Amino acid sequence: MDAEHMSGDLEKVLFTEEQIHARLDELAAEIWRDYEGKDLLLVGVLKGAVVVVSDLMRALPGTAPMDWMAISSYGSGTKSSGVVRILKDLDTDITGKHVLIIEDIIDSGLTLSWIKANLASRHAASVEICTLLRKPDAVKVDVGVRYVGFDIPDAFVVGYGLDYDEKYRNLRCIGTLAPHVYS
Ligand code: 5GP
Ligand code: MG
Ligand code: MG
Repeated sequence: MDAEHMSGDLEKVLFTEEQIHARLDELAAEIWRDYEGKDLLLVGVLKGAVVVVSDLMRALPGTAPMDWMAISSYGSGTKSSGVVRILKDLDTDITGKHVLIIEDIIDSGLTLSWIKANLASRHAASVEICTLLRKPDAVKVDVGVRYVGFDIPDAFVVGYGLDYDEKYRNLRCIGTLAPHVYS
């Protein structure tokens, strides 16, 4: 789905598909340098990270396995509470592995701090985070994000895997929604 298929639901495009791909190429090169010779496992967080993982893994100049987690964070509306439940756990035993968690967006950082601590407790050799987008609040919490695609303002964004009420995940670009969508 492209911006022109949004029939007025899109307010503003923040990043085009080309801009996202260019940034992911840079991140992939950096990640590959940092993990050279290490037993790297990419861990995507469902469902938002589906598109990021699929593009980032193909941008890597070598091969690495992937696995997935699905979690639900109890919270009201668009804010998470930090209370997390695992809906789908990893299939992989991560003992001794270098785990790189891939996320679509980090806002309060509560979800990711929980996942990071949970995976670290399973005796992984290391657990780091790569997020495509980071909001201002996330800079305040000390979750330790190693790779960031773009820092964005505190607005609700959709596209490139990110949803509003399960919609717009398949939009190629990332943008903000027009006010009429919420009302
Ligand atoms: P955190 O625990 O960092 O506050 O929450 C992160 C999660 O909240 C993300 O994985 C995502 O599911 C959701 N989220 C936070 N900001 C946005 C946003 O701007 N757009 C969308 N679609 N989801 C968001
Ligand atoms: Mg997410
Ligand atoms: Mg969502």
